[in-house]
Amino acid sequence: MSSKVYFSNFRSRRKEENKTNKIKQLFDKAGFAEFIHKGDLTAIKLHFGERGNDTFLKPVLVSSLVEKTLDCQAKPFITDTNTLYYGSRHNSVDHLKTAIKNGFAYAVTGAPLVIADGIRGDNWTSVEVNLKHFKDVKIAGDIEKSDNMLILSHFKGHGMSGFGGAIKNLAMGCSAAPGKVEQHQCSKPVITSECTACGTCVDSCPISLITLQNQKAEIDLEKCIACNNCLSNCPESAIELDSKSLPEFSERMVEYAYGAVKHKKGRVGYINFLMDITPDCDCEAFSDTPIVPDIGIMASKDPVALDAASYDLVNQQMGLEGSLLEHQHHHGGDKFRGVWEDVDSRIQIRYAEGIGLGTQKYNLISL
Ligand code: SF4
Ligand code: SF4
Repeated sequence: MSSKVYFSNFRSRRKEENKTNKIKQLFDKAGFAEFIHKGDLTAIKLHFGERGNDTFLKPVLVSSLVEKTLDCQAKPFITDTNTLYYGSRHNSVDHLKTAIKNGFAYAVTGAPLVIADGIRGDNWTSVEVNLKHFKDVKIAGDIEKSDNMLILSHFKGHGMSGFGGAIKNLAMGCSAAPGKVEQHQCSKPVITSECTACGTCVDSCPISLITLQNQKAEIDLEKCIACNNCLSNCPESAIELDSKSLPEFSERMVEYAYGAVKHKKGRVGYINFLMDITPDCDCEAFSDTPIVPDIGIMASKDPVALDAASYDLVNQQMGLEGSLLEHQHHHGGDKFRGVWEDVDSRIQIRYAEGIGLGTQKYNLISL
């Protein structure tokens, strides 16, 4: 059986067709009001964007969903979890400052901000899943305790999973720091022959696991928490992830996504924003040129169908010249493969369907 996915493109010639109104229509058509009730603590989960990034979701678009949940007489709060790497969102104090600097102030969105895994990322609840990689997963406490959720995802590329959409937002986005470590644990960094022994990575490792030995950096992989800080700091791009580990990374991620919504069956709505489709995640402190033109917004109660439909719509576009896309520019070409050659993005969709998170069969309904 297929799941319904509602779609609105960005064409607009009058006020009624502006993005704010289109988002409200999607909320109504997808039936999200059916599970949001008076007094509910509704988590609106999104990514506030790393400092320096400018392609994260626009706060003004988020405000229209806050208005819809307030219409249901619920108590919405906007939320995310702290990062594993040491950037501008590693603890709640820095994270909230970054969110406000990026425009997510109460005055703009109309809802308060909550960092769901506590000031140091240790507020989490264990959720039993009994799957291939994990018996239980560590979900951010305030996400697990919310009554229902709206998962708002900026659909774009990702170097480890091909693309990041609803599934990734649930998985990495709803887990506390120890859960993020567990998802990354299978994909440790590797020092390549490009290393010039400059020593930058030695200082970048938060737990001092890197030393210089025989004119080359060496990592104590036994203790590595796979935060990837060293990768993003190496000026020679001499640190890589072992590509053979990436399929397992995607599976681990999907098991976490399953755990994030296990206790909220029928009480989660998903919206993907197919705009500013950059090659990289909003965790990067920059925004590269998009790989395809803006497409539209999609909503569903099924995260797997939603990501499958989003992936297909991206691939139906012509790739943009001058972007990081190296091949697959034609209609139907796998745009994420065109950027991240070693990554099979569809693993997350197939595996998610296999464990019962949703179905990849969708019925696309255009508004
Ligand atoms: S930062 Fe890169 S080039 Fe410099 S020592 Fe580390 S791995 Fe080698
Ligand atoms: S060596 Fe491991 S823990 Fe240290 S920065 Fe690199 S990925 Fe993070």
